[in-house]
Amino acid sequence: MTAAEQTIGSLKGVGEARAKALNKLGIFTLGDLVNYFPRSYEDRTHFQPIMAAPLDEPVCIRAMVANAPTLARVRRGMELVKLRAVDESGSMDITFFNQTWVRNQLHQGETYVFYGRLSGNLTHRAMTNPDWEPEQRQGEKTGRILPKYPLCQGVSNKLLIGYVRSALDAIGPDVPDALPQRIQSDYGLAQARYAYETIHFPADFGALELARRRFIFEELFVLACAMDRLRAKRQALRGIPVPKADPAEFYAALPFQPTGAQRRAVAQALSDMASGMAMNRLVQGDVGSGKTLVAAACIWAVCRSGRQCAFMAPTEILAEQHLATLRGFLAPFHLRVEKLTGSMTAKEKRETKAALSAGEIDLIVGTHALLTEDVAFSDLALVVTDEQHRFGVNQRSALSGKGETPHVLVMSATPIPRTLALIIYGDLDVSIIDELPPGRQKVDTFTVDESYRQRLYGFIRKLVGEGRQVFVVCPMVEENEESDLPLKSAVEHAQALQSAFPDLRVGCIHGKMKPKDKDAVMAAVVAGELDILVSTTVIEVGVDVPNAALMIVENAERFGLSQLHQLRGRVGRGQHKSWCILISDAKNDEAKARLKAMCETNDGFKISEEDLRLRGPGDFFGSRQHGLPEMHIADLGADVRTLQTAQDAAKALLASDPELAAPENAALCARVQHLFAASERTMN
Ligand code: ADP
Ligand code: MG
Repeated sequence: MTAAEQTIGSLKGVGEARAKALNKLGIFTLGDLVNYFPRSYEDRTHFQPIMAAPLDEPVCIRAMVANAPTLARVRRGMELVKLRAVDESGSMDITFFNQTWVRNQLHQGETYVFYGRLSGNLTHRAMTNPDWEPEQRQGEKTGRILPKYPLCQGVSNKLLIGYVRSALDAIGPDVPDALPQRIQSDYGLAQARYAYETIHFPADFGALELARRRFIFEELFVLACAMDRLRAKRQALRGIPVPKADPAEFYAALPFQPTGAQRRAVAQALSDMASGMAMNRLVQGDVGSGKTLVAAACIWAVCRSGRQCAFMAPTEILAEQHLATLRGFLAPFHLRVEKLTGSMTAKEKRETKAALSAGEIDLIVGTHALLTEDVAFSDLALVVTDEQHRFGVNQRSALSGKGETPHVLVMSATPIPRTLALIIYGDLDVSIIDELPPGRQKVDTFTVDESYRQRLYGFIRKLVGEGRQVFVVCPMVEENEESDLPLKSAVEHAQALQSAFPDLRVGCIHGKMKPKDKDAVMAAVVAGELDILVSTTVIEVGVDVPNAALMIVENAERFGLSQLHQLRGRVGRGQHKSWCILISDAKNDEAKARLKAMCETNDGFKISEEDLRLRGPGDFFGSRQHGLPEMHIADLGADVRTLQTAQDAAKALLASDPELAAPENAALCARVQHLFAASERTMN
């Protein structure tokens, strides 16, 4: 057993209770302890003069005790020690609550270093319960950069500092080190021992930066290696060979010519499926780029070989639309296409399931309902999921589990910065549809404030007069939610619009409605029976209404850039000139920058890069649906450049040692396997 593998019980002062408390922080071994990094640091190395130091933030002050400390009892159980300390700039009053012992430890005429928050005004300064040390014996509480650890009940910061110190000393030079020596020198990274010492107890902030850089690199490097290995493993997975068909036959039955990008994606997918290996392909393309067609071509190829396909959409509305679209595309080929959604009657579901397991249905389109246990296929060979970011990776694999390694095609309209895509979809091959069908017009986008409302209403009237339809999106409003701007709730806003336009047909869709009712409203929109549809973001994904020419977003500051881009993609899908109007009274710079970016570009990839820059990776990594292991120190959004470098390094290393079998890569191999063990359950 290495020193790092020893349990924390081996440390002096760690008994059963302490060990239990540390376990709660995920600390079991000395190795865990040294890998428990500080959350922040307090700079206690710089001294400031009393009168020049900033107020209300922690500062270090070197001052002489000017009088003998006095003790006062305020009331039972409350004792104060008071004293005055002076430096060349002035004086401050120091009060200690219930630390009576300091009275005999702080001596008049001697100099100490105090660390705490100054309060007061221009002429008077005071400090309460400061940390302090004699000037001559600094180094524990002051005169250093103090690490601050995430804590829990029973474990104080001081205690952790002591344990980490002991663990580092016990481990000595034998620290865990996953980075091969070669990589450390090639990329100019700090050595492990130095990095561990420094991340906990930095001599200065420059050194700390070096240590952090090393650990961030190490973490991303291990992740990159793991993803690469996962991809290699998956690529070795045998799949059902689907005889290669010439898609020209399928294209000939279409009412339009596929774009070059669509043809490319189809060709890639068909050759994946013919290869004898299982396809795992992501089709990524901006809203309206025609991803459904790519799926349809694959479905066509699979069904003509006599096998079944499943198509899973995140909402009923979308399932319904895909059903109609796919039926349209596949009609010339006499395939049986059915749906399975939660809102169907028990009898309908039963019959559909029976036909499905009997192999009478070629393609089933549905929602999560497809995942229920009693759904069985006779010969499932292809699973398509739309808008994959809405599904957990787990759900994707649950559906795959219904066949014998069926091919998987994932479609996403959330353009993700390339670097992140490599990580999120690291286990998928990617086809990018970077070309819109011909004749698409740019959606003109404007940001306006409340004062434009009357003019905007005039515009709505004009467009509806020309036969167009209008979408109005309101943010989801939580009950009791407070906001500094008045928020429009969909229901109330629909009523307001109906009063403003008594002769127009106004409908409303919101999250609390039953799927059946939502479907009914949406069907009315598609049929042109409503002029204005007010909704929450339920219409965000996929819905296709070519006659809609105006998208209005209320309280646009509440939406993320990528979300706004999705919303805008709901218009401009037909031959009509279309607009997107973002209404916002927001004054903060970040919100303004976001709205400005929307007005300036229609390019989803540019927008996602900007979103990442402005908001960090939260949007992409929200709710952890991606199934990636949690990062310890690296920030996948902020450390994008390091991520790229780490990926290059990983690729190069794996090219020379694909199994990580070389002795110098043993530690790395162990770390990668460890990561696999933790994420295998979530990744495919
Ligand atoms: P998305 O990529 O957003 O899912 P869709 O697949 O819904 O896009 O396609 C958007 C619209 O464009 C649909 O109405 C579809 O029929 C149409 N479309 C797809 N491909 C083409 C093409 N090559 N030429 C013309 N229209 C197309
Ligand atoms: Mg779509």
